Amino acid sequence: QSLTDVDARVSVCRACPRLVDWRESVAAGKRKAFLGEPYWGRPVPSLGDEQPRVLVVGLAPAAHGGNRTGRMFTGDRSGDWIHAALYRAGYAARPTSVSAGDGQRLRGVRMVAPVHCAPPDNKPTPAERAACGPWLDRELQLATTVESILVLGGIGWQSLHAAAARVGWALPRPRATFGHGAQTVFTVPGSGADAGSSRTVRVIGSYHVSQQNTFTGRLTEQMLDEVIARL
Ligand code: SF4
Repeated sequence: QSLTDVDARVSVCRACPRLVDWRESVAAGKRKAFLGEPYWGRPVPSLGDEQPRVLVVGLAPAAHGGNRTGRMFTGDRSGDWIHAALYRAGYAARPTSVSAGDGQRLRGVRMVAPVHCAPPDNKPTPAERAACGPWLDRELQLATTVESILVLGGIGWQSLHAAAARVGWALPRPRATFGHGAQTVFTVPGSGADAGSSRTVRVIGSYHVSQQNTFTGRLTEQMLDEVIARL
């Protein structure tokens, strides 16, 4: 199985009844500004390099962002922030991500999410996070080239730790607490011909690029650039 296979399979998942209803009703209702556009209205697959050096872990697609465009962190203010920051650091071809076909291309980066469907109020329930967990587990198992992970927000931090533990990565004890600039290291055991060896993955936390954080100045461009520079 490849990451492309995972993307195809997740895009048709219907495991969470509340989120299936929500993503489809938002797509049917459309926001006035996007009346003339088709809405994706399905799970949003991961985005980016098939052999990433860096993973970016967010939370879930936005109702009129990823749920509209079908592309992670695309078509809303949060997406504008993270794509612009990745562009400044040389990880993206363009400073914006508007819609499929806009020429955006991530270099060495893959964006993943603990929850692939847009939740009401941007708040997935614990049961929905648990249901979507196996998709993140599979990403970690297949992303064998990853050297570092940027985690946007506390829920992403918790979800990544849980997924890493489930797939057998060794985590420091006690677990590192989330905060902007928090850093920890996971140890990934080798498998197959590499059994007996291991590699490390650096994990860095950042406040989420939500409008709540960027509008209020809790997260500034400089703060985001500084954590990305440490990847
Ligand atoms: Fe499937 Fe995840 Fe969407 Fe639930 S949130 S329906 S598990 S893709």
